[in-house]
Parts: sequence; C-alpha cells; structure tokens
Amino acid sequence: MLQFHDVHYTYRNGAHVLKGVSLTIERGKKYALIGKNGCGKTTWLLHTNGIYRPTKGEVYWEGKRVKERLRQHVGVVFQNPEHQFLAPTIEEELALSLQGNSERIERAIKAFSLAEWRDVPIHHLSLGQKKWLSLAVAMASQPKLLIVDEPAAYLDAAQSERLIMKLNEWHEAGTTLVVITHDFDFVWQWADEVFVMHDGRIVLHGTPAFIFSQADIFHQLRLPLPLLLRIWMKENKPCTEQQLFEWIERWKKG
Ligand code: ADP
Repeated sequence: MLQFHDVHYTYRNGAHVLKGVSLTIERGKKYALIGKNGCGKTTWLLHTNGIYRPTKGEVYWEGKRVKERLRQHVGVVFQNPEHQFLAPTIEEELALSLQGNSERIERAIKAFSLAEWRDVPIHHLSLGQKKWLSLAVAMASQPKLLIVDEPAAYLDAAQSERLIMKLNEWHEAGTTLVVITHDFDFVWQWADEVFVMHDGRIVLHGTPAFIFSQADIFHQLRLPLPLLLRIWMKENKPCTEQQLFEWIERWKKG
C-alpha cells in the first residue's frame, strides 16, 4: 500500500538524513521500525503521509506518487503528543481532522470515551491523556495505515498495555500498523515484519526471527538484542533463524 523508492532527504542545513530508503508496507501486516537515535526514523515518518517530500526518489500510495498530504489514508502519531495538536479543545481538534463532519465527530467522541473531556482545553490534559487523544485524532478519520512513534512514551505500564490492545483491535478490524520503537522485547513478540534503519538506510528487513538471528549485525550496529533472547542465547548458541522462529511461536502461545 505504501512504497518508498530510493528516498533521499536533505534538511536545509545540508544534513543528508535519508540516504536511499526503499521499502514496501503491505496491507494487513504489523510492522516495527527500529534503529538508533538520529538514524532518520522521524524523518522517514514525516514522509509517510506527505508532510515532507523527498529531495530525491519517490513515495507511492496505492501505486500513485504522493503529491499532497494523505491525512485520510495514513494516520501518524508522534512520540510527543504536544506536537500533534492544532486546536484548543478536543472537540475542535477532531473537527479539524474530520473537516467539521459532526456525525463523525460524535462517533469518534463515543468510540474513544472522550465525552467528558470534549470542551476541556487540551493544555489542561496530562501527557498520558494527550497521548490517548493523539491516537483518537489519528484514528478518527479511519486511516488504512496507522504509524505510531514510540507508543510507550509518556505512558505508564497499564496505559501502554491499553494502547497496544487498542492497536491490536484496530489491526484485527483491518488497519495496517507500523510502530517505531526502542522496545525490542515488544518487537520480537508483536511484529510480523521488522525494518532496521541505520544511518538513513534500511539495512535489514524480515521477520523478527530472521532479524534477531542476525546477532553479528546487531553487534556491529551496536543495537541490543531483546533481553529474553540474550538470556536464551547463553544456552543455545549458535542461534538459527529456525530455532528462533520456533521459540518465538512457543512464547506467543504462552
Ligand atoms: P530518529 O527519529 O531516528 O532519532 P531523526 O529523523 O529525528 O532520527 O533525525 C535524523 C537526523 O536528522 C539527526 O541527525 C537530526 O539531528 C537531523 N535532523 C532532524 N531534524 C532536523 C532539522 N529540522 N534540521 C536539520 N537536521 C535535522
């Protein structure tokens, strides 16, 4: 559904941040994008719904070159919810994202249990509430693809679990998901496919079992393997993709 073809991006100050990103997001899957701070993940995110345009290369949505914002198709949730809002209240924020369609605004308020907050100024909300609201705003227009940068940021363990459950519900209802995260323990048990970004390029792509069986590459990139995997590998060296696949499947079944 979303394709990046050799996408480069250079900021005005000359920083060449994306250095030829090519990847395909297929409908119905759960993806994770991982990589060290500063490798270009947020810059990539800003290209997924047309906020940024490539300096070179192309982004395609359903086969068509992206020339304008894809608000209705691609929902984006930033790591810091403070960066998400344009309007003073929840209701006005939803009205902006739903072009004033009152029926859809009411539906979104109901679906996200926002009725008691609808007139509350957004700056009165806690960061956790803002994060929840940013998710509600992104999902209100029922995008086919939702991209969430660091879902756990600003949330406690219970809120973060609630958010992941919500993401999984949406996935089951047909939304394709991409999560950008540093939580590799979450990645190996949640994602169908993983992209590893390094220095503005995708350097590894595959199932969690494939990705995490490339221990040498993780070591070279100075990325940590998931904690549980590190414990397991102490007794099971060398760790093949097949072994890892079987272990992850067993883990998922509890
Ligand atoms: P990540 O999300 O992986 O941490 P970013 O995409 O935020 O990476 O940043 C990648 C690089 O781009 C960093 O070196 C960062 O300093 C630089 N960068 C980000 N935004 C700007 C900007 N507006 N102008 C210049 N450089 C930027």
